Amino acid sequence: MNSRDSEALAGLLRDKGFILTDSPDSADVILFNTCSVRQHAEDKVWSEIGRIAKLSPLDFAYKTRKIKAGGTPRPTKKIVGLVGCMAQNYKDEIFKRCPNVDLVVGPNDLISIPLLIEAILRERSQVIAVGTMEREQDFYISNFRREKDHAYVVISEGCSNFCSYCVVPFVRGRLHSRPHQEILKEIKSTVNSGIKDITLLGQNVNAYLDTDHLPDKPSNYVNFIELIKKIDEVEGLKSFDFVTSHPKDTSQELFLAMRDCKKLKKQLHLPVQSGSDRILKLMNRGYTAKQYSELVKEYRKITNGRITTDIIVGFPTEAQGDFNQTLNLMKEIEFNSAYIFKYSPRPHTEAENLKDDVALKEKELRHKILLDLQKEISQNKKCTSIL
Ligand code: SF4
Repeated sequence: MNSRDSEALAGLLRDKGFILTDSPDSADVILFNTCSVRQHAEDKVWSEIGRIAKLSPLDFAYKTRKIKAGGTPRPTKKIVGLVGCMAQNYKDEIFKRCPNVDLVVGPNDLISIPLLIEAILRERSQVIAVGTMEREQDFYISNFRREKDHAYVVISEGCSNFCSYCVVPFVRGRLHSRPHQEILKEIKSTVNSGIKDITLLGQNVNAYLDTDHLPDKPSNYVNFIELIKKIDEVEGLKSFDFVTSHPKDTSQELFLAMRDCKKLKKQLHLPVQSGSDRILKLMNRGYTAKQYSELVKEYRKITNGRITTDIIVGFPTEAQGDFNQTLNLMKEIEFNSAYIFKYSPRPHTEAENLKDDVALKEKELRHKILLDLQKEISQNKKCTSIL
């Protein structure tokens, strides 16, 4: 999601006359589009901003548009922006922690960045824009794409699930589905530009529901299954897939639609997070390990597709018995691949109030055990498919 936001932001700035560069040394404006999902990602941003501060000390002047004839150009201060989820999370605290930062902009305000840069140059002061709960659709208008043969298309933003460990609903707001006409328009224009393979993006794609245009007729609302059927009919599109799904919003009806949509890849990323019902309940995930496992059986029976997952180890109170249940579930399901994370408490979340009581050493050990198991499973699956 963040990569697509960065891409759309780059397109927006390019359309406003900015020139993109990969080199921080030559840039006048440096923007960090940030993620708050894990502590580790935030730590990297703080340290990178510290590094950039050395490139552009505070006593440098902001770049002025015109340097008077004959005048000596003063060294210029780079405009440094911390944008995205960390901006929403820490707001003006960022200016205190990093005085070198000029711009703090939340994920739903990214569209204002070109104007805010102008304001910084005009006013010579720091600027903050956070708190807008819904993104303007024009944010996606530029068709700037980094890849030549694949594109991401956002179908919904935010999430209303409030899993107890997750900061997303607090930094990106509640679920908001883009109008399906806008999505189809973006896909058609992407296909016309030569890109025929698309990934639909959302924090919980299965909860997609476009109610914007037909508020009086719920029977005409477009849900996720109807959306993928419409996308399957887009002329010129060769293939598409979607991330991320939530088990509690995933159903047999979806699997049947996946089977029937000819262009839809038969692959599903379905985070399980834990194999212990007690931990799943503490995580507020809304399903049991057995329900999850039944869902996977149904999915495989109907689509014969690939399945991948996310797992968190070391959630507060996770005992050896809970961990063993996760291990057993992984052995039973044999995912095609799995992303395994060590738990870290996130601000605002319900789980932040629980004691982070699994020692780091133990988290690392559990992380390694699951990684090794998945490596073995993936290897066996590869050998079986070759045979
Ligand atoms: S489904 Fe849960 S983990 Fe995923 S974005 Fe929503 S709150 Fe976060």
